[in-house]
Amino acid sequence: MSVKVLYIAGWGRSGTTIVDNILNSYDSVFSTGELYYLWRRGLVQGRKCGCDLPVARCRLWREILDHAYGTDQPDPKRMSELQRQVARVRSTPSLIGDPLSAGAEEYRRVHTRLYHAIADITGAALIVDSSKVPSGAALLPRMRGVEPYLLHMVRDPRAVTHSWMRLTEQPDRGKPAVMQQHQPTESTMHWLVWNTFAERLAKSYPDRYQRLRYEDFADAPRRSIEGLLAFTGVDPGSGPFLDDTTVRLGPNHTVSGNPSRFRTGDVTLRADDRWRQEQSLGPRLAVTALALPLLHRYGYSVRA
Ligand SMILES: [Zn+2]
Repeated sequence: MSVKVLYIAGWGRSGTTIVDNILNSYDSVFSTGELYYLWRRGLVQGRKCGCDLPVARCRLWREILDHAYGTDQPDPKRMSELQRQVARVRSTPSLIGDPLSAGAEEYRRVHTRLYHAIADITGAALIVDSSKVPSGAALLPRMRGVEPYLLHMVRDPRAVTHSWMRLTEQPDRGKPAVMQQHQPTESTMHWLVWNTFAERLAKSYPDRYQRLRYEDFADAPRRSIEGLLAFTGVDPGSGPFLDDTTVRLGPNHTVSGNPSRFRTGDVTLRADDRWRQEQSLGPRLAVTALALPLLHRYGYSVRA
């Protein structure tokens, strides 16, 4: 039987983590969080799983890794080095269509086994991987026994920049730390590149690509999520919505991601548009000018 995997692509701060957490709270869905970072952040750096234990000490992940590789466990340091060599953002074009290099082939093999083990151990009908990194989305349709779906999330780049410029605590290191910050030009260049790649990858997902704007999700969360589940064709079982905009988030075992993955319990969803009041003119104009080619395409107006 093939394993259904929904990969979430897009640039950071576009709402991928909350969508991931909501999906994870359905009975028949399991979310890995940003699986791309399992090796480096999870196993090498010892960061925390969504269950609050270091990933290496999480029983579920131990079971998944044992089931996937048995006595032939990949060395996490070597895997993160291999990832750096063959699966960075810039490697994405080489992973679409062309024959794979030996390294990329090995990387694909390791991850194919991982997805199958996740499905076997969790029993979930749908696996959600919110890695965002486009290289992962390029490889997914090339994995044996995997039925791949691509969700491309987009958010107004001015809101995205505003979020990246804010100081945000990162609680998954077990000591005080903050998340990386990006300046407007840097954030917007990434926004352009990551979104362009996600669009290019749509061709590898015939009828299985869907684009969701953060703003549309925030406007109608329940309808957006139910639409997504229908798109993957799984019967989700009972879910977290208490009403159209309130969810009860269950515990999770996400290996990496935005700190909001640690939120559980009742959450009222509302659009975060603080940037409209708080963002100064300089960054706003810089981002608008730089993002212009894609701004219209995604339906964002120049006058914010
Ligand atoms: Zn865990």
